[in-house]
Amino acid sequence: MNFDLTEEQAMWQKIVHNFVEAEVKPKAHEISESGEFNWDAVHKMAQLGMLGMMVPEEYGGADVGTVAMSIAIEELGWACGSTALAIAAHTELGCAPLVNFGTDAQKKKFLQPVASGEGRLAALALTEPGAGSDLKGGVKTKAVKDGDDWIINGSKMWITNPSVADYIITLVRTDPAAGSRSMSLFIVPTDSPGLTIHPPEKKMGLHASQTHALTYENVRVPAENLLGEEGRGLHQTLETLDAGRISIGSLSVGLAQRAFEESVAYAKQREAFGKPIAAQQAIQWMLADAATEIAAARLMMRQAAWLHETGRPFTHQAAMGKLFATEMAERVARNAIQIHGGYGYSREYPVERIYCDARLMTVGEGTSEIQRLVIARAVLNM
Ligand SMILES: Cc1cc2nc3c(=O)[nH]c(=O)nc-3n(C[C@H](O)[C@H](O)[C@H](O)COP(=O)(O)OP(=O)(O)OC[C@H]3O[C@@H](n4cnc5c(N)ncnc54)[C@H](O)[C@@H]3O)c2cc1C
Repeated sequence: MNFDLTEEQAMWQKIVHNFVEAEVKPKAHEISESGEFNWDAVHKMAQLGMLGMMVPEEYGGADVGTVAMSIAIEELGWACGSTALAIAAHTELGCAPLVNFGTDAQKKKFLQPVASGEGRLAALALTEPGAGSDLKGGVKTKAVKDGDDWIINGSKMWITNPSVADYIITLVRTDPAAGSRSMSLFIVPTDSPGLTIHPPEKKMGLHASQTHALTYENVRVPAENLLGEEGRGLHQTLETLDAGRISIGSLSVGLAQRAFEESVAYAKQREAFGKPIAAQQAIQWMLADAATEIAAARLMMRQAAWLHETGRPFTHQAAMGKLFATEMAERVARNAIQIHGGYGYSREYPVERIYCDARLMTVGEGTSEIQRLVIARAVLNM
């Protein structure tokens, strides 16, 4: 057994870390306050291959592998939760379905520009006002065949990236009577007539990651925009979400790592009762617990990533990793505020932002309850 990163992965980690430290971390506070998307940094990511991390080179990607992708998303999470979420959603939700289910023509037309940085980003729209965890029972957005085209009507909710994306892969009902084969995925360009991208949602955190409601009013897409086989949409979605959990878990490890580092630095310099608070056992225990849980979560995410990269079953490990890493990040960020005392509650200190950013991670891409359901099914063999 070998826990070392390969030479290539270690080099990649160094390059990404140096990049996010210089280009992403310094703007995290400012963009969290303004809600502005960090396009400057995202454009530069293209040069490093960070916009096509899981995309084959022939379609403009860098194809770095799942472990290296997990490392990069962790580093991004360490630097800025909002930017990390935008790139995680772009990579695992917007690009991955095209990589896995797209035709050569679809990949050339839609994937190549967004993976190479010539275009903008990508998004995936599953959730609706009345359907999140229960997509199978709840999705109402539908597509009806009209000659060689499909006409889409409906609405989506809580979608990451549409206003900074070239296309939105959209889950719709194509044959309501077909049970688990009633849904399909379509590639919908963001400039499609009839598609409305509503103003950004006002959220608790992740202010610089754009989240939107969408309305589809007679949005016409050609049959060639159907992704994969008609009726396979739910299956494709579940496969996509399985892998997406690796990036959300990794992002959470990065958020926790940063909250921990901020806490260590603060605890060493803040004095109370004549000595640094780091000398108090209560503070030491919070830091010791954080270090332990971060290490455990990182190992879980690396294992899930490695299983995915080596083509083995990974659903169970990705769900356990996502569950543990996201809940861990919230605990670590919560204690980081505790260690900072009153300053921790101020928006002037990064731990407040990290706490608010981390709070999403137990909800997005499958809530903690849904992860427990997936894990329970596996351990009970049901
Ligand atoms: C910032 C942000 C970004 C997002 N980005 C995207 C995106 O890019 N694309 C996209 O499609 N969606 C996105 N989402 C939506 C997100 O994936 C959903 O919010 C999430 O899946 C939960 O769905 P819901 O909000 O409808 O909650 P519900 O499904 O209504 O769940 C409400 C509560 O009930 C619980 N629950 C539901 N079913 C069960 C069950 N069987 N057993 C136990 N408990 C259960 C849930 O765990 C939760 O606690 C985003 C959300 C946010 C907030």
